[in-house]
Amino acid sequence: MQLTRRQFLGTAAAACLVPPAWAQSEQRGLTPPRIIYYNNFASHLLCAFNPNMYYPELPYRWSDEDWRRLVDMIASFGFNVFEFWLEPRLFCREAIDSAVGREFARQLNAVIEHAHSRGLQAEMIIAIATVGEKWRTLCPNLAAEWREISFLWDAWIRRFPGLDIAGIFPGDPGACSRNGCTAETYIDKSLEIAALLDQLRPGIGIEFNTWGPPFFGWGNIRMPPGSHGEFIPEDQGTAWTFSKERADRSMNHLLKRLAEFPANTVVSINLGFNGDGNPQGEQDARPWANAIAKTRRILTWDFSLTEGENAVYPHYRFKRLFARRKEERAAATYSGGICFTMTPMLNQVSLYEAAQSFKDRDGDPHRLAGDFFVKVFGETGRAFVDEYRLFEIIPDWGSYDVTKLPRAEYHRRMSAFVDRLEDAKGAVKSGAVLFPDPEKYRQELVFFARLFADLTAPHPDYDALKQVYWNRVYRIYDRLPDHVDPRPRGNTDRFVRHFMGWT
Ligand SMILES: [Zn+2]
Repeated sequence: MQLTRRQFLGTAAAACLVPPAWAQSEQRGLTPPRIIYYNNFASHLLCAFNPNMYYPELPYRWSDEDWRRLVDMIASFGFNVFEFWLEPRLFCREAIDSAVGREFARQLNAVIEHAHSRGLQAEMIIAIATVGEKWRTLCPNLAAEWREISFLWDAWIRRFPGLDIAGIFPGDPGACSRNGCTAETYIDKSLEIAALLDQLRPGIGIEFNTWGPPFFGWGNIRMPPGSHGEFIPEDQGTAWTFSKERADRSMNHLLKRLAEFPANTVVSINLGFNGDGNPQGEQDARPWANAIAKTRRILTWDFSLTEGENAVYPHYRFKRLFARRKEERAAATYSGGICFTMTPMLNQVSLYEAAQSFKDRDGDPHRLAGDFFVKVFGETGRAFVDEYRLFEIIPDWGSYDVTKLPRAEYHRRMSAFVDRLEDAKGAVKSGAVLFPDPEKYRQELVFFARLFADLTAPHPDYDALKQVYWNRVYRIYDRLPDHVDPRPRGNTDRFVRHFMGWT
């Protein structure tokens, strides 16, 4: 049955009057919101500030002790779920018993154990059907490929006996348009995977994800004739094509089948069916979120809020973050969601703010940033906020309200920040729960403050500074073949070009 918009809004109003049981218990403080630390360390997001989980011979490996310190830090920030993605490079038959696959499972199991000791749950998310180093998407409508998909889910869940939650998401990368696959196929097949997981690990948490506009790419990603599901970077954008008819049809299908998911299933749905999660026009997802929230706990999977992808520098995007949290509160009974990072060793302030944004949506992000710096640098740190926020200078995915200053003034202020950070060496609180340790963190800030100051000097050597940035952030890619997603190089060029064009 197609529900009209008016019926949906009526549903939303009803949901507000009588909150579902889980929401009532949450309001009574019995069920805390899920505050999810989502560390995406996939192979196209490698950098000096993210763990390298795939290339034992290359830099940026983390020891188990490093991981334990990371977990201690995020627990202290207020996170209660540790989440990682089993990226396609591992979600394939070849990887299961490879040395890299075995070590990945060993180390993540150790992390999960430590996370449990700190009161966090652990979640692994997997794109339902995208497999292998080249990110090929298998087709659930081909019997042999569906058997392979089911086998991989089964095999990999068994590798993580302590896992609390398994997340199913549609793709990005990947999705299928072959052999009649549609968004409804993704929903139907996710139900089968969820049943498989629930049978394998009775009561395991399931997170069913609608990511994309909605159900990323299923039935609408361009696949050329003769495709075997190969990942083609230029075609990924087609998965973002929004169609109201497709959204209505597939969301109605989800509502129809929602009750068939295992009892312990939550649904992730953003406020809007677009990359920014903006509830605008036909892309407004709020009525659907409310309809789902009548029977299931819902989470936000808003990826646009914290730091973007491959925009590696210190971030300060908190006005929009807290505004979005308030929009979510006004829209539906959201019960937590993800905080994405690919730079946990650099953007600790963002992680702290993101966790706090679920605890106190009315919190003042500037005060919180000050609190963070006081923990690391003592009282002198509170004054760092005004300079630190100057790093957020480049318009980017999810960051539109950037600082604008005349170049010379920016240079002067950033140079002063370098001095201030240098002077703070003696003030560092070595006992602060931070990963890496507070002095190392201070040095990272000095590096970026100096780089941003140098890039805005009167006559910078841009090529040399670009190399300085690349060497500090991305040098691991000098030793890898070109990835199917080559964004680190493109984004480095873009980063430096911003300063070249700034008068
Ligand atoms: Zn297919």
